[in-house]
Amino acid sequence: MEGTSGRGHGPRLPDGGGRLGRRALLVGGAAAAVGAGVLARDELRHLWWRAPGVERSRVEGAVDQPGAEWVAASEANWRRADRPGDYGVDRVVIHVVQGSYPVALKVFKDPAHGAAAHYVVRGDGHIAQTIRELDVAFHAGNRSFNERSIGIEHEGWIDRPQDFSDAMLRASARLTASICARYDFPPDREHIIGHVEVPGADHIDPGRSWPWEKYMRMVRQARTEVEGTKAAARRV
Ligand SMILES: [Zn+2]
Repeated sequence: MEGTSGRGHGPRLPDGGGRLGRRALLVGGAAAAVGAGVLARDELRHLWWRAPGVERSRVEGAVDQPGAEWVAASEANWRRADRPGDYGVDRVVIHVVQGSYPVALKVFKDPAHGAAAHYVVRGDGHIAQTIRELDVAFHAGNRSFNERSIGIEHEGWIDRPQDFSDAMLRASARLTASICARYDFPPDREHIIGHVEVPGADHIDPGRSWPWEKYMRMVRQARTEVEGTKAAARRV
């Protein structure tokens, strides 16, 4: 998990207004050189759904990962986006809660926490989805990594390898493999990283006890199965 780093400072405007402001400035600066019309059209195409009353439908309770349980995080702990339309997704960031599954869900619901991941995996393999994959979760402590990644929290403590049960690892690996398939990036250690490997991160999870070799084997295996399911669906 993380603190408020990577969120930016000052009050948040609704619907990522802070980023709109920054983008508007960027466009303003470039428009003088390139021609305002083209840029304005691009910007409009990108932002049309942010206009009042126009928005992609967000069905309460709908999950990206089949079988996951929807447990909404506080809106203060993530930012509205339209991934992969606005930001490409090419990373999964692995976290360990340093606590239990209910504790993770509780702090994700707390607007004062300032951080949350998209998913929490329980010791028995049950998965909660707390933030939609199209939105940017504040989990990596690095703005650009938040924008490009999906964060998965795991119940347990980093210095207790026994917490990383086969059931939890298998469920997490299936989730990670499905994310790789959804956004079409390879299931390797360049794209599946620990929080500790995020540039500038001041967190050390998932820690030295996280069984990377075993986990990546499970992810690659699950990726093959996901591909098989997709191919079978195409044949029907
Ligand atoms: Zn973390």
